Amino acid sequence: MAEMESLMDLLEDELKDLYSAENQLTKALPRMAKKASSKMLKDAFTKHLKETEGHVKRLERIGKSLDIKLSGKVCQAMKGLIEEGKEILGEKGEPSILDAALIGAAQRVEHYEMAGYGVVRTIAEHLDLTEVAQLLQQTLDEEKATDQKLTQIAEEEVYGEAAGIGAEEDEEELEEEE
Ligand code: FE
Ligand code: FE
Repeated sequence: MAEMESLMDLLEDELKDLYSAENQLTKALPRMAKKASSKMLKDAFTKHLKETEGHVKRLERIGKSLDIKLSGKVCQAMKGLIEEGKEILGEKGEPSILDAALIGAAQRVEHYEMAGYGVVRTIAEHLDLTEVAQLLQQTLDEEKATDQKLTQIAEEEVYGEAAGIGAEEDEEELEEEE
């Protein structure tokens, strides 16, 4: 970690962390889209990949305006979250259950990003870096929207099917018992 003498130092460090996180995500999201069975979920991952590429660009713009070099840090938390997500990629099973697991992994990622962007947005506001704060807020809004979309897909599509599978099996078991 760089020396922490001011809020600006902290902002710099937090931005580097997010830059690493976003870059890691651009590599993970295509794999998640490939693994998803639900068309809605696949499309959501693909759409968020495009947004994530935009998040990287936005951070680069901010880095330029603040004269900060963003590369060179590894976000260990995102690395861990992606590691967990990778376990699902190798898993076999009911497509809707795997989709539900992918949603769980993706929502953990979005919440991590939401926390990170909330922090840097607030620091930027506090430092009167109005334009920077606005750019960070835009990304934060997209992360929130993605999180909500994932909940919607879970409720409207994936869990219904997943519950159906479980129910059918339970019925079969009951019939066998009779
Ligand atoms: Fe992002
Ligand atoms: Fe995101």
